[in-house]
Amino acid sequence: MSIRSRIYISLLASASITLLVSFILLYAISSRLIESRVTETYELVYKNYKEILNREEKNLRLISEDVPLKEGYQKRKLSKAECKEKPHYRVLATGPHYGINRIYSDGCYFVGTSLEEILRLISGLMDLEWVIYYERRYLNDILETSIDEFIKGKIVIENRVIDRFSSEKVLNVPAHVTGYALYGSMLEKALLMEIALIDHKGFPFGKILLVKDISVIYREAYVVFVALALYSIVMVSFLSLVLLKIVSALADRIIFLKDVTASIEKKDFSVVKLLENSHSRWKDEVYELKHSIQNMAVSLKTAFEELEKKQKELEQLAYYDPLTGLPNRRFFFDHANLILESSKRYGTPLSLLVMDIDHFKRINDTYGHEAGDIMLKSFAEILRKSIRQSDMPARFGGEEFVLLMPNTNLQQGKVVAERIRVSFQNNFIIYDGNEINTTLSGGLVSFSPNVESIDELIKMADEALYKAKESGRNRIEIYEVKK
Ligand code: GH3
Ligand code: MG
Ligand code: MG
Repeated sequence: MSIRSRIYISLLASASITLLVSFILLYAISSRLIESRVTETYELVYKNYKEILNREEKNLRLISEDVPLKEGYQKRKLSKAECKEKPHYRVLATGPHYGINRIYSDGCYFVGTSLEEILRLISGLMDLEWVIYYERRYLNDILETSIDEFIKGKIVIENRVIDRFSSEKVLNVPAHVTGYALYGSMLEKALLMEIALIDHKGFPFGKILLVKDISVIYREAYVVFVALALYSIVMVSFLSLVLLKIVSALADRIIFLKDVTASIEKKDFSVVKLLENSHSRWKDEVYELKHSIQNMAVSLKTAFEELEKKQKELEQLAYYDPLTGLPNRRFFFDHANLILESSKRYGTPLSLLVMDIDHFKRINDTYGHEAGDIMLKSFAEILRKSIRQSDMPARFGGEEFVLLMPNTNLQQGKVVAERIRVSFQNNFIIYDGNEINTTLSGGLVSFSPNVESIDELIKMADEALYKAKESGRNRIEIYEVKK
């Protein structure tokens, strides 16, 4: 996998994980926020309701028997046995009431406040809806009128009889609530709170269901959730982009170095210039790596150049005669056969001249080896000047030389050979104050289709040379084809 793909995958994975974790955390925080606000609301409603009940209770205790009751209050005579002090709910002919039993001079009375009034008060205070219902099976115990008469015109749902309610929409909410419960869709939420109706014997015969619209709590929490989620997305994207930019730049630098080393591996040292010209903003480890590669490349380049030079020198040594600078025997054989093949294929003429300096030993013996060497160099110089670019001269050994002449027939070859012979004959070297001069003999041969190899051609030229020596030297003899 490439370094770039790895970067993309890791960044994508880390961004996804970060976002997932922050969404989970945000969800948990929002849920906790909703829960605490819902409990707070429930406690507040309950506290306010209790306070209203307490105040009503106090008011009821203050009512004296000879003062007429104010509106909303009811009085009901009870038997002595029923007369207990505990506050309770009681369904009178005029509706449900909350109150206490009191002993007046003419007997025991229940004095109570209309429950509807109390609920109107609390709903005005807390913006609530409400519904009062009784369990059907207890109706017998609590009603002063007959059940049938009571039920007439009332809503009965399953085994509950709804007595009063603030508005019709509260009739749809579920009634089976203990303590408090939540009801509704995601955006429309209501808090349902149950208040048990306890009669004078301490028996729950029905319930008040308070319904508080708490959609706003949810909406606020959702807004906070969405805002924070968006913030996380923006932050994670921004950080990922910044990180991507930094890591991409690093990757680019590493890839650049990889390409450079690949080029160096192929001995392309032109990239060293690229390394020198690439400027980095950061002086970090990659920068140091670039420097080491640069230094290594420079050293390698020098080493290779040195090696090439040495190789050329070795080639020179292997292919050229150090004294005269002419190609040697080895060079001659490595190239001559190719020239012969080319002549054969294209039918072009080819001539070979073999030369041997006359009485060379005598020069050595008379003037010394050094004089001989000078004579050899001098001859090489004459040879070079007398030939064409395409001709191939060589020192074959001692004072013996060859000249291979492509595109040259026997007549043309003879002209060249004679030119060399005459030039050498007229050439004098000065050594130790002595003018020294000698001649050369040569054997010339021209390529004919029956010649197989260069050796064969050399043999023929040698034969002609031998003849030249035999015939008195300082001459060029042409090889005669035997019939
Ligand atoms: P001929 O006319 O029959 O060719 O007689 P020659 O004396 O030239 O023939 P020979 O082959 O007897 O002598 C060649 C001499 O060349 C022998 C050797 O000492 C000498 N020689 C060979 N190589 C070198 C060299 O590199 N430098 C010098 N100074 N002499 C060399
Ligand atoms: Mg010789
Ligand atoms: Mg000789």
